[in-house]
Amino acid sequence: MKKVSLIIPCYNEEQSLPLLYEAICSTAAEHVAYEWEFLFVNDGSMDSTLEIIKGMRANDKRVSFVDLSRNFGKERAMLAGFDYAKGDCAVVMDADLQDPPSIIGEMLAKWEDGYDDVYAKRITRGKESWLRKVFSLSFYKILNKISKIDLLPNVGDFRLLDRRCLDALRELRESERYTKGLYCWIGYKKTCVEFNRSDRVSGKSKWGFFKLLSLAVDGIVSFSTAPLKIATVTGIICALASFLYSIYFLIKSLIYGDPVAGFPTLIITILFIGGMQLICLGIIGEYVGRIFNESKRRPVYFVRECESGKA
Ligand code: UDP
Ligand code: MG
Repeated sequence: MKKVSLIIPCYNEEQSLPLLYEAICSTAAEHVAYEWEFLFVNDGSMDSTLEIIKGMRANDKRVSFVDLSRNFGKERAMLAGFDYAKGDCAVVMDADLQDPPSIIGEMLAKWEDGYDDVYAKRITRGKESWLRKVFSLSFYKILNKISKIDLLPNVGDFRLLDRRCLDALRELRESERYTKGLYCWIGYKKTCVEFNRSDRVSGKSKWGFFKLLSLAVDGIVSFSTAPLKIATVTGIICALASFLYSIYFLIKSLIYGDPVAGFPTLIITILFIGGMQLICLGIIGEYVGRIFNESKRRPVYFVRECESGKA
């Protein structure tokens, strides 16, 4: 019997969990040909999420859990999920029912057809601000232009991964993770199923504007060195322009003498060049910061308690 793991990262999801559990139980009941594992990764929740999970496990041995030592963020919680999932394939899904379990059947059918990575593409995105929508879509456009991997817009973490993909992802142990990029980076046979993303059943999204912005920077910096090249190119253009400008001044002062004038131009030039330098330093800093973080080779997460056993 093939085993299917559901990997569910949870951070303060006490209200969603009972509803989610009901939904995944009925999905499992529709597909009795598979053995199921519901793997909850408790990402340092401060509410009673862990107690609820333990309660579910007491009555249902399909439920297993990994309790992380603190809140490490969804990206790392998912890696813990990949590490501990025991299935022949695993479906990553949110705890808030924004990823409808009802299409898991469709995913399984594609998996049986021989696909390794069946991702769910949202036709509608659920309730979110237009600003977030605009930022998200333009981010994908930019990242696709400047990186070598093909990122898919409107595709999230909701997907079915074959054991092959899980093992591949487990080998990528960088701590500044951008998992959406990693799915594409590992390759394997991909296909999609479409769905309508609904709204959260309860609570609100944990991703504020700045958290999303930092995820976007992670995405760009970990998959592309284009910003560094942009820094180089603007540096060259600035240097060239200032060289020409200085020749112009040299000739001008040779012909007309050198009265002290042009203060505004001076200030503008200094500020402009100074600004450019700071921007370029900032870009380099983003990369150096990541080298610093990765070079410490810290484990990506720590587990406080686990009832599952590593795959
Ligand atoms: N999540 C997590 N750790 C965090 C933030 C979120 O494990 O630090 C989980 C959360 O419980 C949910 C999933 O990641 O199951 C997606 O989070 P959310 O619904 O807030 O994000 P959105 O759907 O708005 O992208
Ligand atoms: Mg959500």
